[in-house]
Amino acid sequence: MSFFPTLSQMKSYTSYLSQYIKNINLSTQQSYRPARELGEITQKIGGLFLPAHAFTPHKSLFGSCGDSLKAVFSDFAPFVKVLELGLSSDSQMADCISELHRLTFVSNSDAHSLATIGREYNIFELAEPTFKAVKEALFKENGRLVANFGLDPKLGKYHRSFCEDCQQTLVDIDWLGCCPFCSGKKIVKGVYDRLLEISDSESFSSAPERPPYYYQIPLSFLPGVGPKTIKKLISYFGTEMEVLHRAGLDELTQVVGREIAELIDKARHGQLDISPGGGGIYGKVTAT
Ligand SMILES: [Zn+2]
Repeated sequence: MSFFPTLSQMKSYTSYLSQYIKNINLSTQQSYRPARELGEITQKIGGLFLPAHAFTPHKSLFGSCGDSLKAVFSDFAPFVKVLELGLSSDSQMADCISELHRLTFVSNSDAHSLATIGREYNIFELAEPTFKAVKEALFKENGRLVANFGLDPKLGKYHRSFCEDCQQTLVDIDWLGCCPFCSGKKIVKGVYDRLLEISDSESFSSAPERPPYYYQIPLSFLPGVGPKTIKKLISYFGTEMEVLHRAGLDELTQVVGREIAELIDKARHGQLDISPGGGGIYGKVTAT
């Protein structure tokens, strides 16, 4: 992922990319350039480069390209200073790869739909809200990233491995190349399982000085909370973040009743059971 502070820098990058992309005006186009080259060009133009959704299967840095930064970026590896975690992982999981301890982790929303903007976000401490200040904070030069907010990774679409033949999520099962239920071989490796495979530490635990990572369960994931209830909550409290993190239990009860208020409170305190996602299907809150 490449970010630029001005449109003219963005245009320079676009003109480089358009040599390798059929239609530069469409989203999700592929360029087949080496990752190192994308990083170098972004840096040369004055932008900010970071691998995004770093562990998801199919096309990501660790999900399908290689086992280390060096393997994928060669000489550019030391210049990779920031990494985006994706919905299916969190800081503790990513820190099981020790070469990532020096990196800043960001938890960013995609902009595929307006409703999901803010599903993941970061809090920064900055002298001023500018591109330069954000970049310096991410590079640990000045200012800092204070906290990450994101989905509980179990809710992510690629948390655990998934058999595409029989549509089963393979949780805590040794599948060794084929599905234990149907012997199918079309298995999409989950982020959790991929990290266990390439981890060089014993357990999932955050590196020292890693900012806290707060889980949030969006209202739409809560069983029995439909669009009408969500609309009512947001129109009363102003934003979904206010509902998820700040609204008091009594006030929530007044607006939507005891049952839903308690559900929101349990989500806030990590007290809900979650059946993990996999193969492109979100995890689900199963028991309340
Ligand atoms: Zn199967």
